[in-house]
Amino acid sequence: MLGGARRVIGVVVAASLLATIVPVGGVVAKETKAARIRECRDADAPPRFRRQLVTAIRISRDLPMAWVDSPNLRRIVCWQGTGYDQDFREAGTRFHVWHGVFAMTVREMKTIQGTWMTARRDAYELSPACFVHGWERCTRTTGNRDVIQQLIAGLRWIWLQYGNPRKAWRFIKRFGRFTSYPRLGTADAATTAPFRRCPVDRPVYYRDDFGERRTVGGYHPHWGNDVIAPAGRRIRAPFDGFAVAHRDNWFAGIWVTVVGKHGYARNVHLKKVVRVGRVETGDVIGLVGSTGDARGPHDHFEWHPWVAPFPLHQAPSGFRIVMDAIDPYPFLNRVCRSSSARAVADLLPRGYPERPLGI
Ligand SMILES: [Zn+2]
Repeated sequence: MLGGARRVIGVVVAASLLATIVPVGGVVAKETKAARIRECRDADAPPRFRRQLVTAIRISRDLPMAWVDSPNLRRIVCWQGTGYDQDFREAGTRFHVWHGVFAMTVREMKTIQGTWMTARRDAYELSPACFVHGWERCTRTTGNRDVIQQLIAGLRWIWLQYGNPRKAWRFIKRFGRFTSYPRLGTADAATTAPFRRCPVDRPVYYRDDFGERRTVGGYHPHWGNDVIAPAGRRIRAPFDGFAVAHRDNWFAGIWVTVVGKHGYARNVHLKKVVRVGRVETGDVIGLVGSTGDARGPHDHFEWHPWVAPFPLHQAPSGFRIVMDAIDPYPFLNRVCRSSSARAVADLLPRGYPERPLGI
């Protein structure tokens, strides 16, 4: 009995010694990561965390209350290493500073700020100004408390990128950090050739409509290009990555995000999702449709690079960047080659609108 206890103590001492003399190096970094995952498997959260989650989810109006008791959220925060500290701040590269409970960057916060990024029309809008410039400069409402905004932002980011916390946990086990650019195993340099193939089987028609005016969910500039093709046409992963499906019933409809080494691409208004999870370039992930607020079949295609290339292409609308999305037009031109509007119109049903506006 005593011997057993001594042996256990011995193992613990050896393990903690090992932890203190961990040198820098690829193999050891991997071991440390594995140790962190093990440590976080049964992560404890401070008692206030659950209460704050309940408040945040209630205020958001678009996040599932079931997430409150998901052990994965506690695991994710533990894995991030923020220690539930609302003032957490960590500089990564010169591009990235991680903030708050979920260790998010300002760009990530901006990505999920607008109502058009939520599943509900009347959902709570976040204030990135508070996140960036400090809470004391914001209106004092329950929703504008720093921890509530951080929690909503983090939860929406999980919803946006992974669909649910369980998938997020699977993903971080594979790649490291779940938020923040860049993730482990992703590129830290900008690319001007992010796509290895056209996201929609040709012939397709698109033009440089990035930044054009859209009004669903409140005014916002168009985040991508509308790639027009008949309903049912195959949509394919433009690079190797991880595909995630989402759905709402008022603006984007059914949509699939592919998260890859250089950033993530989003395909919106799908008729159907074909495949999610690990995907390789060219895998069919969905079919062109007109769900959400689309007035005709097309793939609303967005490109969100981890690091934006310089100089950035400027669309005729004057926009170069909208939140963290940049104009995919010059990159689509490398892999798609737009057909004439007339040629594509022949493939479409009668009365197809010239500009199939959606989000
Ligand atoms: Zn669009």
